[in-house]
Amino acid sequence: MTDTFEAKGKRKILVAELRQKGINDEEVLRAIDTVPRHLFMDAAFFSHAYVDKAFPITSGQTISQPYTVAVQSSLLKVKKRDKILEIGTGSGYQAAILAEMGAKVYTIERFRDLFIKAQRTLNSLGYSVDFFYGDGYEGKAQYGPFDGIIITAAAPEIPMTLIRQLKTGGRLVVPVGNSGSQVMTVVERTGEESFINSEHGNFIFVPMLKGIVNNN
Ligand code: SAH
Repeated sequence: MTDTFEAKGKRKILVAELRQKGINDEEVLRAIDTVPRHLFMDAAFFSHAYVDKAFPITSGQTISQPYTVAVQSSLLKVKKRDKILEIGTGSGYQAAILAEMGAKVYTIERFRDLFIKAQRTLNSLGYSVDFFYGDGYEGKAQYGPFDGIIITAAAPEIPMTLIRQLKTGGRLVVPVGNSGSQVMTVVERTGEESFINSEHGNFIFVPMLKGIVNNN
């Protein structure tokens, strides 16, 4: 499958909708306008690809809602060539948005089938992202420290191992809470042992779970 005029048109409408919902980071909006979200979903679900909703992918997981992707990407304050670690590759859509914004992206997924599929999707679109099959709770210290870490699954609490992998001035963006609802939280590392937290509204994600699943 390739990009189409119809899909491009639908993305323009989606971007206008996200603007109306308060997204104003132009680089984030440009990335959403550019990345063909329908190619991260089964072709049969084209009609759902540019609706502002989360959608099921395989292994009981979801591709995040475009608004949620836009909020998390804005909160990361990505600059070109920033090193960003993503926990929860899923479909790979969020990773593609960050790569489109010029970040150097490292992404970890605990389901082997999703890890393989997302790699294929991003390679076919020409994005160069580093994929890892593993437990994101451990992070990727050997590639850090990172300018930003984004967790796209609900963490019961702020994962301490991960904030240790941030640069000073770096930011962790994570939905914190239990299954019902989570608070989008930014933890900024301001010094070796100092962190500032801020909260940015309620969201619903699939849970961040420990361990890996070898299903492929
Ligand atoms: N960023 C994704 C959203 C995926 S949903 C996208 O753009 O499509 C969340 C993903 O996090 C799921 O695929 C789930 O398997 C994964 N996940 C949950 N806990 C994890 C962990 N500890 N390590 C790595 N991935 C995890």
